[in-house]
Amino acid sequence: MKTTKKEIYDVLVVGAGVAGCYGALSFPDDVSVLVLSKYERTVSNSNLAQGGVAAVLSFENDSYDLHINDTMIAGHHANNIETVDALVHEGPDDVRRIMEYGVEFDKNENGALDKTREGGHCRRRIVHHRDTTGAEMVRVLTARVAERENIELCENTSLCALARVNSGFRADLLIDGEAHSVFCSYCILATGGIGRIYRYTTNPKTATGDGIRIAYELGASIKDLSYVQFHPTAFNSDDGEQFLISESVRGEGAYLLNTNKERFMDRYDERLELAPRDVVSKSIILENRRTGSNHFYLDISYKPADYLLNRFPGIAEGCRQHGVDITKDLIPIFPCQHYLMGGIEVDMDSRTTVPRLYAAGECANTGVHGKNRLASNSLLEALVFSRHAAEDILRCIRAGYAKVSAHPYTRDISGAPMPDNIKSEIQSIMQRAYFVFADESAVRTGIKQLENILKRLKGSKYAVTTEYCEALSMASAAYIILKEVEER
Ligand SMILES: Cc1cc2nc3c(=O)[nH]c(=O)nc-3n(C[C@H](O)[C@H](O)[C@H](O)COP(=O)(O)OP(=O)(O)OC[C@H]3O[C@@H](n4cnc5c(N)ncnc54)[C@H](O)[C@@H]3O)c2cc1C
Repeated sequence: MKTTKKEIYDVLVVGAGVAGCYGALSFPDDVSVLVLSKYERTVSNSNLAQGGVAAVLSFENDSYDLHINDTMIAGHHANNIETVDALVHEGPDDVRRIMEYGVEFDKNENGALDKTREGGHCRRRIVHHRDTTGAEMVRVLTARVAERENIELCENTSLCALARVNSGFRADLLIDGEAHSVFCSYCILATGGIGRIYRYTTNPKTATGDGIRIAYELGASIKDLSYVQFHPTAFNSDDGEQFLISESVRGEGAYLLNTNKERFMDRYDERLELAPRDVVSKSIILENRRTGSNHFYLDISYKPADYLLNRFPGIAEGCRQHGVDITKDLIPIFPCQHYLMGGIEVDMDSRTTVPRLYAAGECANTGVHGKNRLASNSLLEALVFSRHAAEDILRCIRAGYAKVSAHPYTRDISGAPMPDNIKSEIQSIMQRAYFVFADESAVRTGIKQLENILKRLKGSKYAVTTEYCEALSMASAAYIILKEVEER
């Protein structure tokens, strides 16, 4: 049976996306770190990020104040100004650090970084690796993690639950489906988003809200979980599989068209196609209601084919596989769930309300995004605040705080198989109740249905598998979201 190398670690990092890996790399060599990846290390939201990382890397035509202002406008001024300030001022150094690690961002013909623009940004400040920025970051960060002797990365290993024990936690894991537990003095949850609670999402299978459920079970405060971002332009394929058509396609000039092939954004916002994504998503749904059709398109075919294929190779290939040539055809799109602004409440040091428990990346709520994330601010947030978590933990370690010790325990994961349809039931509830707009009566019904599902999941003796833990996480996250929507 596969197992971890040790039984006790200084730090457990749950997640091997950008937040998890960068957080782990921010510890010095004398701190032992275990990093978990629920599936293979390349399955994460980070790995799918296309557009890039927003940061003010030069002051020729940009400033920190402008980036702060854009972030606050997109977030409807519900952002936490202190964390926004840290994000914008500190982020550029973190971007430079990952470049030192080996991340390659595209350069222009003069050898300077090629900066693009996305919705809500008043300047071109987004650095990118073609349209596969996240995969490039994950490739480099996981390679650096693999070189570090103090860091162990375990793939196909899921955290099912955390129990508080003396000076730390016992982490109950499934490694390739087998039960195993480890002890850690500190834990950073970096488990990513909740997209899979929806049927239509850009998120991969990892995004079931596990970290949020586990923190909630430990009594941590969860804040603004209903601040869910719906991306306006996911490829609308007949087979139901969604993939993102990055905002930078609109940033580079694509038009948004309705079923009559007319531009329509001027009906809803003067910023047209470059309005923030929540505004564009809502505009599409309102236009859908106005025209009675859910056919919408992006058109960038008027740009030179060479340029498009070089600038958007991943998107061009994804569309080609569905019979769409972006150099000639309209790209069929529709909104879908994309990102979570709310999450596990953390302070400036990424501390949750539970001692020794930290959260970073998409599962955390630092307040930087307010009600709506500005495009390309989330990779930056994952970098800045996972480093904050590591720095704070290191201060505690250096101050000589007590370390965890192992204790005997037994764990029974046997039981009946969970019924197949529970996850899809949760997805149907969420699609009906809260997709771009909330539907009051579906929210009320959804809450009751989710209470029932949670009762079934907790009351029946189902075998503890990754599938079961994910269903529990999805139902918990969906329930918290709908309760919040109802209260609001
Ligand atoms: C299609 C797409 C495009 C995007 N484009 C951009 C962009 O251009 N710019 C930008 O800034 N942001 C973008 N985002 C958002 C951004 O990618 C994410 O917010 C960010 O990468 C989140 O990083 P993370 O490390 O917090 O989570 P993730 O990268 O999702 O990593 C989560 C990790 O947690 C692990 N995990 C989860 N549950 C468990 C468990 N129970 N046990 C063990 N491990 C677990 C997973 O295996 C995974 O390794 C995009 C997102 C998507 C989906």
